Amino acid sequence: MSRIAFIGLGNMGSPMAHNLLKAGHELVVFDLVPAAVKGLTDAGAQGATSARECVAEAEVVVSMLPASRHVEGLYLGEEGLLAALPSGTLVIECSTISPESARKVAAAAREAGIRMIDAPVSGGTGGAVAGTLTFIVGGQGDDVDAARPILENMGRNIFHAGSSGAGQVAKICNNMLLGILMAGTSEALALGVANGLDPKVLSDIIAKSSGRNWATELYNPWPGVMPDVPASKEYAGGFGVDLMLKDLGLAAEAALHSSSSTPLGELARNLYSLHSANGNGRLDFSSIVKLYEKKS
Ligand code: NAD
Repeated sequence: MSRIAFIGLGNMGSPMAHNLLKAGHELVVFDLVPAAVKGLTDAGAQGATSARECVAEAEVVVSMLPASRHVEGLYLGEEGLLAALPSGTLVIECSTISPESARKVAAAAREAGIRMIDAPVSGGTGGAVAGTLTFIVGGQGDDVDAARPILENMGRNIFHAGSSGAGQVAKICNNMLLGILMAGTSEALALGVANGLDPKVLSDIIAKSSGRNWATELYNPWPGVMPDVPASKEYAGGFGVDLMLKDLGLAAEAALHSSSSTPLGELARNLYSLHSANGNGRLDFSSIVKLYEKKS
């Protein structure tokens, strides 16, 4: 068992940290929100009041933050953690950030003698709670192997996508597709309902037909169709609209860098942008279905 520092205890980080505790690791946790730390200390973790205090005696550091700027702020610069960690520490960075940012932080880590992998996840908050996440990892093979037993405590599938940043590229491609399919699923359900169908009946039909996808099977956007998904809890928790918008922005940047065409990804980015501008940024991304709502 390892002594692990876990930083970032939001919708994903909190259940992931709980699973590391359950697996028997010694866990020290930190988040900018004290209530998030309390959720873990109540379960047996040790709480810290700063990131530096959190990593003070850690063999492994896991971070799960919103975006590139948070990750660079945590690790880089004079106040950053890379300046404080002993060489040989293993850092597992799980946030979804730009591949450039992941490479920049990993290069700085290497220079400081610290082993770092990018390990963004897929599977949503349900997968984080159940410990069935998919980890999409970029980094050196021996570092990935060293991280594997810890990742296995939080997830079921672990893919080594390539060198530093490769995990982020694969994750961005996946999330662009997710954004498109959630908007498409919402559009199809709204069309069916507007033409007299019951959304549950239509969802059951799609789930066993050729339009079947992750949203219709596990994360239906229509309120009341599925229990325990954000759509049935007024879109609370889950994966925020603004986080999806960030990922679609990362996909657009990657397309620009590689002269790729991503017309559906761009359309989805505009839909989520409009939805966020209407005051829905903090709701779960499946609330995109509200864009199709008919006000009678
Ligand atoms: P979240 O906003 O719920 O949680 C982020 C947490 O990080 C917050 O508690 C915040 O207080 C904390 N934080 C920010 N800066 C910090 C710092 N400097 N030090 C300590 N704590 C800090 O976000 P989330 O939904 O948990 O997502 C986290 C990451 O995982 C994002 O990159 C997201 O894109 C990705 N992701 C999310 C989901 C999902 O379903 N929610 C799924 C896959 C991937």
